[in-house]
Amino acid sequence: MTDLTELSQGDLFAPPDPIVTCKNLGELHGLIRGCERCPELVENRGQAVPGVGPTDARVVFIGEAPGRWEDQKGEPFVGEAGAYLTELLERIGLDRGQVFITNVVKCRPPDNRNPKAPEMDNCEPFLERQLDLIKPDLVVLLGRIALERFFPREKITESAAVPRRKVVAGREITFLPLLHPAFGIRRQDLKPEIERQFWTIREVLDSLAS
Ligand code: URA
Repeated sequence: MTDLTELSQGDLFAPPDPIVTCKNLGELHGLIRGCERCPELVENRGQAVPGVGPTDARVVFIGEAPGRWEDQKGEPFVGEAGAYLTELLERIGLDRGQVFITNVVKCRPPDNRNPKAPEMDNCEPFLERQLDLIKPDLVVLLGRIALERFFPREKITESAAVPRRKVVAGREITFLPLLHPAFGIRRQDLKPEIERQFWTIREVLDSLAS
């Protein structure tokens, strides 16, 4: 039991965390849009990009961070990599509108640099609460940044297309790391491998259903 004498007045009377107490994705996404935790991102962003998809999606896709087009439109994966992601989903019989799509970091890093660790830390409570509210069966981690956020010691080249389970927000979830679709844009020769890996989504979903 907590020894109350060790708690400061600040601990006892701290206001409730709005990320934890918000009741639905709409409220959470409002908090994300108004977030000012990362000064460099706030200064450079057009808008924050919380995520898109049904609030009860069975599958959640997590990418790295919004790029230029996403920042303009306010929706994840709407650029070239996004068009390829939509095509990959259709190939395995999933409609883009059926799945929830978001990123580790919700604001565009300037010049599309990789998100910095403190930026990912700042955004983590938002991502966790999204998973907590949506309660997906499967979370697909697109690329190295998303993989390392949940499985810090793993390498995407070794872990891609291998499902694993982890407790997040008090629930055990199946995670499936895959190569990022942007790889297939830069390296056409990787497309067959990316497409092969995408079929594992179907296999995992079928195995979860049975
Ligand atoms: N667009 C996104 O929203 N995320 C990525 O990781 C890449 C492109």
